[in-house]
Amino acid sequence: MTYVVTEACIKCKYMDCVEVCPVDCFYEGENMLVINPNECIDCGVCEPECPAEAILPDTESGLEKWLELNNSYSAEWPNVTRKGDQTPADADDHKGEDGKFDKYFSAEPGKGD
Ligand code: SF4
Ligand code: SF4
Repeated sequence: MTYVVTEACIKCKYMDCVEVCPVDCFYEGENMLVINPNECIDCGVCEPECPAEAILPDTESGLEKWLELNNSYSAEWPNVTRKGDQTPADADDHKGEDGKFDKYFSAEPGKGD
């Protein structure tokens, strides 16, 4: 079991989640984060920290796409453990928006720590 980051994170990137993860298993893309499912210890601490409600346990149905995305991009993107200044200025404008993956997803890596 693991927790996964879903498309609600795209363009939000509030980063509250990375500060609380005890095993530092968040990885940073250009406009979203992912969790490495092999490193996540399933503690659930990050889930309530996310203002966008983007983090969900993979026991919920319909998350296969996001589990696969978290798995593949956590192998490519840099590790991130600290909340920096990466949150976009217009993050709140995109909070709760539908279809963010199709509209905005970027496969480019973020800066990491
Ligand atoms: S707190 Fe939520 S929206 Fe912010 S970076 Fe973490 S998963 Fe993404
Ligand atoms: S569930 Fe725990 S270990 Fe997994 S990403 Fe969240 S804080 Fe880290």
